Amino acid sequence: VFIMKLLVILLFSGLMTGCRGNSSYSLPPKLLLVSFDGFRADYLQNYEFPHLQNFIKEGVLVEHVKNVFITKTFPNHYSIVTGLYEESHGIVANSMYDAVTKKHFSDSNDKDPFWWNEAVPIWVTNQLQENRSSAAAMWPGTDVLIHNTTPSYFMNYSMSVSFEERVNNITTWLSNSNPPVTFATLYWEEPDASGHKYGPEDKENMRRVLKEIDDLIGYLVQKLKMLGLWENLNVIITSDHGMTQCSENRWINLDLCIDRSNYSLIDLSPVAAVLPKINITEVYEKLKNCSPHMNVYLKKDIPNRYYYQHNDRIQPIILIADEGWTIVLNKSSSKLGDHGYDNSLPSMHPFLAARGPAFHKGYKYSTINIVDIYPMMCHILGLKPHPNNGTFSHTKCLLVDQWCINLPEAIGIVIGALLALTTLTCLIIIMQNRLSVPHPFSRLQLQEDDDDPLIDL
Ligand SMILES: [Zn+2]
Repeated sequence: VFIMKLLVILLFSGLMTGCRGNSSYSLPPKLLLVSFDGFRADYLQNYEFPHLQNFIKEGVLVEHVKNVFITKTFPNHYSIVTGLYEESHGIVANSMYDAVTKKHFSDSNDKDPFWWNEAVPIWVTNQLQENRSSAAAMWPGTDVLIHNTTPSYFMNYSMSVSFEERVNNITTWLSNSNPPVTFATLYWEEPDASGHKYGPEDKENMRRVLKEIDDLIGYLVQKLKMLGLWENLNVIITSDHGMTQCSENRWINLDLCIDRSNYSLIDLSPVAAVLPKINITEVYEKLKNCSPHMNVYLKKDIPNRYYYQHNDRIQPIILIADEGWTIVLNKSSSKLGDHGYDNSLPSMHPFLAARGPAFHKGYKYSTINIVDIYPMMCHILGLKPHPNNGTFSHTKCLLVDQWCINLPEAIGIVIGALLALTTLTCLIIIMQNRLSVPHPFSRLQLQEDDDDPLIDL
């Protein structure tokens, strides 16, 4: 079976090389990466998205994307475009502090390249290719000089710029630029903002908000069709994280456990980053049993599965609230929905849909990691990826130029082959029996032997 599989793979890869040879005459591949912030994976099952479902019908859907810890906006958007865990790309939270340089980072103070330069995002790599450029409509980091490079076309971040204006810019840049824009990104703040405000369990409000999102997708597709970009453009629609329901009945009040003068709080909820002002162990002891709904870790004890330890920007103590719990400082929090929790929680996962010449049509896949998106995008664009934490083979089943086999299919093939072999063997045995029955000599000989004495008489 192994040798047969190998032969099939060799045959297919030969065919693929042949196909690729033909396409080298056409234009360089183009990719548009779209993120709707806070689009929880199961919104797709629980609400109606006629435009998005049409998009998926013509392309692929990954139902769950396992994102990176902490499940916040800036860190996950940077993981999508670098393929790295947060400890490796350096954007470890939406609020950060660097003890060496005494620099602060927040979503409104994010322009210092210092924070971003630990990794190289795909738009920079694409930009350094001959005769190619990148464009961005507000993806986090695209208005920062990372490794001395911004996309050739970008917008300074402002949440007051409408989706339509962002789409109009991006589509203009995609249609008439020289050198051509081959990689573009588009970012939109919803449904994250409404998810925080109403909570994901507020079906009525979320239905309205998600219908608006679907209409925006409809607008984007219509615009791409109108400008003749639709057929040759690869489009990925994804998100950074999900959302879970919070409640004022699930608060963890740090002020009840420790005096504020003992520490600085770099980030609060649901993952608090604590920088002690007194002895670290003393602060840890005070926080350790603060709440049964919160895990408290010294930096060295943060579980390996988070890949969230080896970076100076991760503070000496972190507190991780259980799903739906909010860490507060003796004051109210109006959030009814939040994210940032354990990245193994399904409620924290986004989805991914993709359509275009690089992708299969009508293919559904259960899960990939958010860091797998980067090597896939590099493959589509023909870029050499920087070292990363993603696995290209996880996305092979989504791509038309790759031969993939998943476990159920492999089992099916083995069972099928065994059945075929068994049937064949049975057929051969039956045929042999049928042939041997009317064989004249054997019967005659048998009779001869048995009837020997009778014949003599
Ligand atoms: Zn958010």
